[in-house]
Amino acid sequence: MSKLSISNVSKLFSTTRAVDSFTLEVADGELVCLLGPSGSGKSTLLRMVGGFETPTSGSILIDGEEVIHLPPEKRPTGMVFQSHALWTHMNVFNNLAFGLKLRRLPARDIRDKVEAVLELVGLGGYGKRLTTQLSGGQQQRVALARSLVLEPKILLLDEPFASLDQHLRERLREEVRDIQQRLRITTLFVTHGQDEALALADRIVVMRDGKTEQAARPDLLYREPATPFVAGFIGSMNLVDGKISSSVFAHNGFTVPVPVADGVAILAVRPEALGIVPADGESAARIHRVTDFGTHAIIDIDLPDAVRLKSMVTDARQWQAGQRIALQPRAFAVYRDDAAIYRSA
Ligand code: ADP
Repeated sequence: MSKLSISNVSKLFSTTRAVDSFTLEVADGELVCLLGPSGSGKSTLLRMVGGFETPTSGSILIDGEEVIHLPPEKRPTGMVFQSHALWTHMNVFNNLAFGLKLRRLPARDIRDKVEAVLELVGLGGYGKRLTTQLSGGQQQRVALARSLVLEPKILLLDEPFASLDQHLRERLREEVRDIQQRLRITTLFVTHGQDEALALADRIVVMRDGKTEQAARPDLLYREPATPFVAGFIGSMNLVDGKISSSVFAHNGFTVPVPVADGVAILAVRPEALGIVPADGESAARIHRVTDFGTHAIIDIDLPDAVRLKSMVTDARQWQAGQRIALQPRAFAVYRDDAAIYRSA
């Protein structure tokens, strides 16, 4: 049973507020992804939990114990970095055994634990290999095993697969999810890849400027983004600035009925929810390009003021570049002042 509580944590680097009054509870066995653009404070936050950075203010509790004043090696945390920093002069076994030897465990226990964790990460029998004789993916597995063998209460992963190719990244993240669920280890995972977060997380915290923009289950984050920033960051989204008057949203000939008060607004509609129909030459919207992916096609659409929208259709064949069309959003949200003021059913 291990719970992580981050309360009102801030970190200032001279005048840069990298993390700004950040609060988050991670429940026992939960995997939370910190997701956000570069510079949003994800790594700094993770490093503060691991003890590699000291907060300017705030508190970090693990199972109710304040850890802020403990150095990394005294914390019940295990951290896996993007660059694995394995000891190249040691074989895999000794890389993993090192921390256990410092804890003065009997040699037999060390051997048993190392072998068990190597099995867990799919590297059974690799103990005698030098780390330089391993592929990038295998090295990252060793880095993960090196953290896990110390049986941390909280596992911290900082973009651990960023340097690997896409295929391997996808495989490893599935393995990490399996291992995390088998061990039921409380985990905080930093990524700037939305696919990675959607595939891995019990809960995603979208960060912006050192703060939480939204924290929610992946499916909710996708379906009900709380702000235009989240809407634009998770998945593909058309965001159109416009004005509402007399219950009609309008942007340069593109109109949608919406039952909200007059004023400026942002219309958000996913490509899969933006229907298109052929229209006459008067229509403002024009197809710029049709890209056929076989399973579906993406239609790039130009509005007269160089606003580019995307629509996803199942059959590319009836559409071609230059064609005039009318836009028919099937599901959409409307934002004003950074908050959702309307969601269509
Ligand atoms: P992310 O992980 O989301 O990319 P970081 O936590 O690395 O973001 O950085 C957040 C902000 O803090 C950025 O503006 C970054 O430049 C700044 N920052 C991070 N580490 C340091 C440091 N050691 N010294 C000064 N500024 C830093």
